[in-house]
Amino acid sequence: MKPFWKNSAAVSARLAAAPGLLVTLDFDGTLAALAETPGQARLEPEFRAALKELAAAPGVCVFILSGRALPGVRHLVGLRGLYYGGNHGIEIKGPGFAWCDAGALKTRGRVAGIVADMQERFPPGTGVLVENKLFSASVHYRNLKPAFKHGFFNRMRSLMATRGAGLHWRGGHKVFELLPRGAAHKGDAVGLLAKHLGAPLGIAVGDDLTDEDMFKALAGRGLTVRVGRKAGSKAGYFLSGQGEVLRLLRFIAAARDRGGNETDSCGAIQILHAPHAHGSNRAQGV
Ligand SMILES: [Mg+2]
Repeated sequence: MKPFWKNSAAVSARLAAAPGLLVTLDFDGTLAALAETPGQARLEPEFRAALKELAAAPGVCVFILSGRALPGVRHLVGLRGLYYGGNHGIEIKGPGFAWCDAGALKTRGRVAGIVADMQERFPPGTGVLVENKLFSASVHYRNLKPAFKHGFFNRMRSLMATRGAGLHWRGGHKVFELLPRGAAHKGDAVGLLAKHLGAPLGIAVGDDLTDEDMFKALAGRGLTVRVGRKAGSKAGYFLSGQGEVLRLLRFIAAARDRGGNETDSCGAIQILHAPHAHGSNRAQGV
């Protein structure tokens, strides 16, 4: 892992020269600061403005790829014309493209069953938050009360030892993610969308374990940036913190603008350039 800003001249030249660019960004901990609960996360207005500017840069497609359910992340970003991926890549939607992992449809009932069981065992007073995201679930324990710690980790160990249900668990920042076994991950999602867009140069930015899938998928052919340095990460570069992502968004847009590249390979460009119905310069809601 190299520090991004010390290598930015070489990166800028590569960004400018590529005929097309697919910029994939994680949401929580990358575009937005990590919050106490998922409901408290917000996209700062300057990040929204920088995303809008980046999506309008020549030949650039922006893909927001989150562990959240797709409608939730689209609502939080609130920009039309971008590509959105939810449930770590199980669902993708954007201009002229909609995809969902068919295998993940089959395990929705079992996901709902585990969500109901965990919500009953760990009601809100315990500090555990169980999110049903339809295709996957998240068990957040950032605010776990000490009195419930023993019982919580015992229950999680028991759930993780249960095999044969077509589901598996992954860890993250104070969260356990329940996912369909063999379902598309973030690396698959980046590959699928890149193929649809005619294989543009890929750049991926993320901060958590599930982002490693896209770092691996782009290894040797794209640019990968981790928010925060971490030993063992497959990302090529790192930023020191989430606040630096704003500078990175502006840096990518500036590199494309300087490149003078007139390529218009991305459908999103057309949509973003369409006149806004409300005549306002505020971001359009989705
Ligand atoms: Mg994240």
